[in-house]
Amino acid sequence: MLALHNSLTKTIEPFRPLRGRSVRVYTCGPTVYDFAHVGNLRSYVFADVLRRTLLLNGLRVKHVMNITDVGHLVGDADTGEDKLERAAAQRKQSARELADFYTQAFLQDLERLHILTPDAMPKATEYIAQQIALVERLEKQGYTYTTSDGVYFDTAKLASYGTAFRGQKLEEKAGGMRVAVGEKRLPHDFALWKLSNPTPPSPPFQREGGEQRKRQQEWESPWGTGFPGWHLECSVMSRELLGQPFDIHTGGIDHIPVHHTNEIAQSEAAYGKPLAAYWLHGAFLTVDGKRMGKSEGNLITITQLIERGIDPLAYRYLVLGAHYRSPLNFTWESLTAAQHALEHLRTQCREFPKPPVRVSAQLKVKVHKTTERFLDAMNDDLDTPKALALLWECLKKSERTVEQSAFVAYADEVFALGLRDVLGKPFVVPPEVLELVRAREHARTEKDWARADRLRAQIAALGYTVEDTQDGPKVRGGA
Ligand code: AMP
Ligand code: ZN
Repeated sequence: MLALHNSLTKTIEPFRPLRGRSVRVYTCGPTVYDFAHVGNLRSYVFADVLRRTLLLNGLRVKHVMNITDVGHLVGDADTGEDKLERAAAQRKQSARELADFYTQAFLQDLERLHILTPDAMPKATEYIAQQIALVERLEKQGYTYTTSDGVYFDTAKLASYGTAFRGQKLEEKAGGMRVAVGEKRLPHDFALWKLSNPTPPSPPFQREGGEQRKRQQEWESPWGTGFPGWHLECSVMSRELLGQPFDIHTGGIDHIPVHHTNEIAQSEAAYGKPLAAYWLHGAFLTVDGKRMGKSEGNLITITQLIERGIDPLAYRYLVLGAHYRSPLNFTWESLTAAQHALEHLRTQCREFPKPPVRVSAQLKVKVHKTTERFLDAMNDDLDTPKALALLWECLKKSERTVEQSAFVAYADEVFALGLRDVLGKPFVVPPEVLELVRAREHARTEKDWARADRLRAQIAALGYTVEDTQDGPKVRGGA
């Protein structure tokens, strides 16, 4: 029986789909103004592990992940510039081009990490009319007020505001509140619609950011030309594509106090029913104990890992080694150790017999005990560290049996570390890779390091890595 930690109740609850055997999952997706960093991607590996565990339980899954291509402001409290508009102006590109470019880069990162592509990836800019309709509905119900720069959700009107997540406290922002709050009545009131060209506010209200640039992305609305507030898109697109309530909403823990609190407020105020039944939140990837994030200046991307000769799946392995609700501190040493562990796993899997194309009933019975233990670990709030330990335990046995192969194939449905693909496949380095390795050795003896590096990159592009050991170059990788 699957049990998941629900942030609404802060307890691990048995999971039951709202409708039959299909599960509707919504994941807050990326703001596409830059490359995703491996911290962001930890959240998406977690959502992928959740999805794969639901599938392993024989459930059907519909997974939606939004693409934020407008409206996410630099400040978290409706202040500062739109991240996309700012990046587009800095790079002298159109916001659309920029969003498309980083959406493609994001999709490539998902693929590199073996994250299943969501069934739908709606963009905020594709749902403007529906977002305006939701603001109109809230306005009719008396949940909004207008200021010189837009329409705001009046949190004082919703008695349950900020109480959805157990133990949640609304912090009053003292000191400097005036500027952060502007014309907002309460600090946690939030923008539903922002105007492109607000009338200049009179003192003491000051506008942040100084001079206003003409926006590239703006739309007509009953309140004037502008753009939607960031939280609106998730309320609208999840309801449109999954219905309300749907089963599971995921995101990083930073989303609890503002983004998810506000999604819940506007959706529940508008429709009088819950937005989602289970809310799951992933902990941060940290560097020296601090969250990995753009403003912290400690970002690492998947492309950077590849440039260092690290297989992106080694990062997936590293993430699986920690429980999704525990912080994980990133170091190059731990990532290198993960790469070695993954290579060791793959080398062992090559020695196993090939798994049968179809697992017979007889074989199923034989592996049942092991697969059951594995499923129990995953069903215990996605305990990937325990599930990984079971995999290592299975590999420790000296004999190599088809039962073990069947188990590895089963476990890899969740782990997705490419183990299944190498089961029973002896490692053969293709002749063209061998040729490049030889040429690189030659370049190294000539001390032509630049050429040696170029050749190493060519080898990496073919999916292989070369490590220089005392016994000469060692080639790894390939399916
Ligand atoms: P953003 O593009 O900023 O909206 O973030 C996309 C996702 O990444 C959100 O679910 C965030 O909660 C998550 N996220 C951001 N930083 C980290 C981090 N250091 N570790 C884990 N998840 C993160
Ligand atoms: Zn969201």
